[in-house]
Amino acid sequence: MNPVDHSTGQHGRIDFAAVLGQVHEEVAPLVGQGKVASYIPRLADVPANRFGMAAATLDGRLFTIGDADERFSIQSISKVFTLTLALEALGGDLWKRVGREPSGSAFNSLVQLENEKGIPRNPLINAGAHVVADVILSSSRNARDDLLAFVRERADNPDIIMDAEVASSERDAGFRNTALANFIRSFGNLDNPVDRVLDFYFHQCALQMSCADLARAFVYLANRGHCQRSGKPVISAERAKRINALMLTCGTYDAAGEFAFRVGLPAKSGVGGGIVAIVPNVLTLAVWSPALDDKGNSLAGAAALERFSALTGLSIF
Ligand code: GLN
Repeated sequence: MNPVDHSTGQHGRIDFAAVLGQVHEEVAPLVGQGKVASYIPRLADVPANRFGMAAATLDGRLFTIGDADERFSIQSISKVFTLTLALEALGGDLWKRVGREPSGSAFNSLVQLENEKGIPRNPLINAGAHVVADVILSSSRNARDDLLAFVRERADNPDIIMDAEVASSERDAGFRNTALANFIRSFGNLDNPVDRVLDFYFHQCALQMSCADLARAFVYLANRGHCQRSGKPVISAERAKRINALMLTCGTYDAAGEFAFRVGLPAKSGVGGGIVAIVPNVLTLAVWSPALDDKGNSLAGAAALERFSALTGLSIF
């Protein structure tokens, strides 16, 4: 494998296929360690011994290894897509309703909301995602269809779906999200009925995508807000910068500090075992392995990203 040429800023000489192969080999002993999420009953059936990874470069290449084409439930990774749509709908006014600070608490925690009067800490924890979902519901005639169309377009895959069974399984067991949304609504920070907000939220979490889909879909965030295929803006470069900043500081919940330390890249995880990471101006990474660590992040997935960054020298620092 050729090392990155930092003097020219060129990454063209890295053999990404070889790097993914090496990462896969190195993390193999970790695959299956940790626990598959079971609080959403439908997710408990997913086999723990899966591992896939994909990298999509800004010059249009896609590299994959392992189960990179297998679809899984993207769960909280969807919060980045909905944040993108809500920012387009409401602009900077969104920040009157949701903060931009790491929570230091679990993704589904209620504790800060009481003191902070129903203004969630950031858009990448559950409470913040409920407010974001509410913004989209208010600005769109069919929020689910609009989100699906956006994600299909970004991934260049018209076959992406929301899994209705996962959504209803989460709804049936969704006592904590129901509590969060009701609590936020009691402070006047949701305009739509709680049931509608939760229905949209559970469906966004139930998007089924593969690592290859996710790597492609997130390229706009590595490409200063632009679509790699058409060259056209999806969002402004400034907004892309800010979403990346939020992913770095808030994208892996209360493990965000540790994640930045180990991996050094903006990232977003989900309890389905997926993690997406951005190397600005170079590529995106998506990794999937369903068994989670105690913070709810894929155990082997986080290790894979750490090894990828170490082997290539690619990080934002
Ligand atoms: N749908 C999940 C929940 O609300 C998403 C959480 C996650 O992926 N961290 O609990």
